[in-house]
Amino acid sequence: MSYHCRALVQGPFLHPPFSPGAAGAPAPSLGVRVGLPSRALRLPRPARASVEKREQQVTMEEKAGQAAFGWAARDATGVLSPYNFSRRVPKDDDVTIKVLYCGICHTDLHIIKNDWGNAMYPVVPGHEIVGVVTGVGGGVTRFKAGDTVGVGYFVGSCRSCDSCGKGNENYCAGVVQTSNGVDYAHGGVPTKGGFSDVIVVNEHYVVRVPDGLALDRTAPLLCAGVTVYSPMMRHGLNEPGKHLGVVGLGGLGHVAVKFGKAFGMKVTVISTSASKRQEAIESLGADEFLISRDPEEMKAATGTMDGIIDTVSAWHPITPLLALLKPLGQMVVVGGPSKPLELPAYAIVPGGKGVAGNSVGSVGDCQAMLEFAGKHGIGAEVEVIKMDYVNTAIERLEKNDVRYRFVIDVAGSLGSAA
Ligand SMILES: [Zn+2]
Ligand SMILES: [Zn+2]
Repeated sequence: MSYHCRALVQGPFLHPPFSPGAAGAPAPSLGVRVGLPSRALRLPRPARASVEKREQQVTMEEKAGQAAFGWAARDATGVLSPYNFSRRVPKDDDVTIKVLYCGICHTDLHIIKNDWGNAMYPVVPGHEIVGVVTGVGGGVTRFKAGDTVGVGYFVGSCRSCDSCGKGNENYCAGVVQTSNGVDYAHGGVPTKGGFSDVIVVNEHYVVRVPDGLALDRTAPLLCAGVTVYSPMMRHGLNEPGKHLGVVGLGGLGHVAVKFGKAFGMKVTVISTSASKRQEAIESLGADEFLISRDPEEMKAATGTMDGIIDTVSAWHPITPLLALLKPLGQMVVVGGPSKPLELPAYAIVPGGKGVAGNSVGSVGDCQAMLEFAGKHGIGAEVEVIKMDYVNTAIERLEKNDVRYRFVIDVAGSLGSAA
């Protein structure tokens, strides 16, 4: 799991984002429902007729929501099976997207198995979505039918808080996850993710996929990619000649190596597993490989790194990693061990070092990351599967038996209702 996922999953539950009808335009259907009690107050006949008519319209609109077909988990076994449902009726600022590919993130695994106790079954997972626009609302300005687009970890935020105002929607307390989120702006129903043939998303949360990128390899960038790219930009870990350490060589780590190399940095992979050395250096282009359990190797690298991106979710000591940083160096934690990390003051105070966290990235970060990936031909290393392999893929993901991300060929498996 990546910490972004856990934080975002918990966030809205800890801090109810906003009540229906507040912040942003209330859904018309809510307006009608709010008006219903007034009918009991014996409105004059014309008003009553008008309310009834609107009620009928809403019912018809709900029925007119596009039929969707996906795979969902029904209970904590997490086993996915075919599932028919419908998407919301698109609003003026909505984009309807035919899903082409969707990556499988560790978060999906945690949600479908109810590891965090917040699964709202049936759960349609998936938040690493690449697709093609099939329709846009009248108010949509940035997209048109035929555009290749992406949708990442979230599909909504309050758009009025300090974080949203600064373009950091990913840190909004009202962020709406793409899957298993509570979408207050659209009736408070649980969101259903990209393991489905079609999705309707407000254009603000849709990004453009630049031409030339392999779409299957792009899908994991929407979550794993931006989760490492965003802090690299924020902490200046994007400058040629700087030395970047990447802890853990999984879905996030292997993309961090690629970004680091594209920025012109020296990149060292730090791992517990010597078996990954060859792959890190020969396949992914890392300059060096450090075995974190080897005290001699670690000692030799003391004080050499400008920054470290730590992607490991299993608990691990970070003091030896902090020793690898130069004075004023910056470590960024993007993994989410469930036990607290140990941080003795001596590991950061004498060298003025920093430890920061990061949770995915903003919509702007995500767009910038895709532009950068497009320019440098960066894509995740993926194993593309059909939907009917998804349960096996999830079992394998639990054992980290994947190099480095499963991506579902959604359109090639399900066809499309879009
Ligand atoms: Zn994710
Ligand atoms: Zn906000």
